[in-house]
Amino acid sequence: MKVTGAIDKETRCSHYYENNDIIAIKFYCCKEYFPCYQCHAEYGCGHNKVWPKVKFDEKAILCGNCKNELTINEYLNGGYSCPNCYASFNPGCSIHYHLYFQK
Ligand SMILES: [Zn+2]
Ligand SMILES: [Zn+2]
Ligand SMILES: [Zn+2]
Repeated sequence: MKVTGAIDKETRCSHYYENNDIIAIKFYCCKEYFPCYQCHAEYGCGHNKVWPKVKFDEKAILCGNCKNELTINEYLNGGYSCPNCYASFNPGCSIHYHLYFQK
């Protein structure tokens, strides 16, 4: 899986590189994976569309630990961990959900 802007194989980037910053997000506008919205702003398509609620059952989150793709619902309801490998995700991402997902 290509993750534009990632600086390691667990999808950390120059903006978010804590131990638990291990997810990449597919952007609705270009259907490409980026580690964060800032990477999308720097390297992305130039558009800025968020996932509409009706599409939350589509796979759009990549776990950098096990490389499993999660649906948006699985991610949002998963308690900040991967349902496949149980790796912990950064709960701080939730303050930026509006940049990725329709409220
Ligand atoms: Zn885009
Ligand atoms: Zn980034
Ligand atoms: Zn995982």
